[in-house]
Amino acid sequence: MSRRDLDALVIGAGVSGLTTAVCLAEAGMRVIIWTAEPPERTTSYAAGAMWGPYHVEPVDRVRVWSAQTLEVLRQLATDPQTGVRLVSGIEASRKPVDPPEWGSQLGGFRTCEVSELPDGFATGWRYTAPILDMPTYLGYLRGRLEAAGGGIEIRRIDSLDEVVGVAPVVVNCAGMGARDPELAPVRGQLVAVENPGITEFFSEDTGVSPDLLHFYPHGETVVLGGTAQPGEWNREPDPGIAAAIVARCAEIEPRLRGARVVELRVGLRPTRPFVRVEKRQFRSARMIHNYGHGGAGVSLSWGCAAQVVAGSG
Ligand SMILES: Cc1cc2nc3c(=O)[nH]c(=O)nc-3n(C[C@H](O)[C@H](O)[C@H](O)COP(=O)(O)OP(=O)(O)OC[C@H]3O[C@@H](n4cnc5c(N)ncnc54)[C@H](O)[C@@H]3O)c2cc1C
Repeated sequence: MSRRDLDALVIGAGVSGLTTAVCLAEAGMRVIIWTAEPPERTTSYAAGAMWGPYHVEPVDRVRVWSAQTLEVLRQLATDPQTGVRLVSGIEASRKPVDPPEWGSQLGGFRTCEVSELPDGFATGWRYTAPILDMPTYLGYLRGRLEAAGGGIEIRRIDSLDEVVGVAPVVVNCAGMGARDPELAPVRGQLVAVENPGITEFFSEDTGVSPDLLHFYPHGETVVLGGTAQPGEWNREPDPGIAAAIVARCAEIEPRLRGARVVELRVGLRPTRPFVRVEKRQFRSARMIHNYGHGGAGVSLSWGCAAQVVAGSG
């Protein structure tokens, strides 16, 4: 595709950029992604990932984006090739807390008896939610983009001036690369291990804490988490943190103790007071921003992408 033929340029090949590019291409636009790094080097690759619009604002728009995304993920879960599964499990807290307001949207949502919870936990809910194996899922999105005529080029943008004249619509899905003073990283580390036979997820509602506890089964592997370290930019996995994550998860599920580690993953959650999905004119280009999804970018991805498409025409 020569540049003259392009309808839209998307910056970024994480879940936001890929989903947006798929939606634009399937709406009939000629789309290319420019990304500094390939999908397997993004924060999106590092995510767990489970649907759940935690700690993101503005609440009214998040409600719409997350509900739209939930509907699409449920459809995708009917095809195992996508990496999306509907998995049942328990979310629990050591303190009495209220259920999440979005819980009733999830299949089989009910309050647990204390006897169903691990020792030391006071409240919990059982539900069925979409869980995404992100390496597989990003590959699926890439294939779907290519099938719709789009493509990916590895190209870092140092200044927005570089995108002027490339396409009439430019969508900024650069995550932490969006260079917005309101963005701050919240480092997350996860450990993928061989699955010793776990079929249900577990997630602790830790409130705001640097040490998280959850595990999500993805067939052959289980992804164990995690951390939430505000202001940390280091993308190198820390073996000490990894050992602590495994130990925390093994207290809840002893079969995880000694499970063979397959991969350590690190990502920087692009956190902002409000998710930014907004249209602006930038010289000759219609610039649409789609970044700042914090710890919920997977859960908002299809809703935000639909809003970009609505603003692109
Ligand atoms: C450990 C962890 C667990 C998580 N778990 C969940 C979960 O369970 N559920 C959930 O919904 N969310 C979860 N998240 C959050 C989610 O991963 C993020 O919100 C989401 O990945 C953000 O996606 P993105 O596409 O906006 O950004 P990214 O995935 O960071 O992608 C940004 C893209 O922009 C490109 N880019 C950056 N700068 C430039 C530049 N100058 N030029 C060109 N390209 C550039 C990058 O190369 C990359 O391709 C988790 C995050 C972490 C770290």
